[in-house]
Amino acid sequence: MRQISVKTLEEHKASFKANSGYLLPSLQRYVIRKVADDQAASERRSDIMHPSEMCKPDWCARRDFHRITLGDRKDIEPRFTSELIFAEGHTIHDKYQGWLHGMGLLYGRWQCRSCHYSFMAQSPQLCEVCPSTSLRYREVPLENSEYLIAGHADGAVNHGNEWLEVDEPFLIEVKSIGLGTVRVEHTELWRKHSDGEFDLTRLWQEIKRPFPAHIRQATLYCWLSGYRKMVFIYESKWNQQTKEFVVTPDFKHIQWILDSAKDVAQAIRQGMEPYRPGWATLNHRTCKACPYRGECWGETNDQEDQPAITVRKAAGPRRRKAFRPT
Ligand code: SF4
Repeated sequence: MRQISVKTLEEHKASFKANSGYLLPSLQRYVIRKVADDQAASERRSDIMHPSEMCKPDWCARRDFHRITLGDRKDIEPRFTSELIFAEGHTIHDKYQGWLHGMGLLYGRWQCRSCHYSFMAQSPQLCEVCPSTSLRYREVPLENSEYLIAGHADGAVNHGNEWLEVDEPFLIEVKSIGLGTVRVEHTELWRKHSDGEFDLTRLWQEIKRPFPAHIRQATLYCWLSGYRKMVFIYESKWNQQTKEFVVTPDFKHIQWILDSAKDVAQAIRQGMEPYRPGWATLNHRTCKACPYRGECWGETNDQEDQPAITVRKAAGPRRRKAFRPT
């Protein structure tokens, strides 16, 4: 059963106070309850590594090892504000996927809402088994069972039509870019603007290439799928302006991610923990929020440099490469 933190319960209690609002408190309670229910019924796999997480700067392979072997523990409680952000992101994805489907360009897995049959196709109008026109888009599945990686790309185009000439098939990722995205993914640009007065128009203009984590994501998705190109659509959350970037993969940029994933897959098969990443300390904000902190560092361990549990040692050069922080 899902654990709700004291802080969330306090917020929940506070939302019942008579003077805390008219409609909004009930709405907040509904959303938090719905998110908890949706998470409990979620089909998100917990036995594999998720490529979108593996490309983030603070990805920890050891945390994935613990998640897969001990079970999924959430480090983010449902909060009304974060759900507004997630919902906005989903709306943007749905919007582009709906338009691409209408253009006859959206390739991926489709599931019939009537008979539940699923099949791969580009913008089908009908189920392949029954005559239903009610289809749900399940995106583009990506998987490598040897490395225990699985996820989905937002879309793909396999062949062109009257709307678009296509020289080779490509994957699509849609990113809604808010100030939080810039702060996490492009700290230098964030600092440049946050030191003075924020000029959002200039900040948007100064995004001239995909963020490093997105380039790694594109490269990993191409490695998983065999596609040789990924198109990013960036939509600004503050003014709905758009940008497009095309990434062709250079796999050497993700070799350390693949090495780490292989280490985790091997460690899981052998039942031995991989190393902590080089950036990890007891006081690192990612470790502080990690739901596996107890198992990783030991409940009473306050010595950062003292390993709490036995770890499997990989060859030195490989280890350094595998756990490079960015
Ligand atoms: S506590 Fe830190 S090093 Fe340990 S598993 Fe969690 S994120 Fe990784």
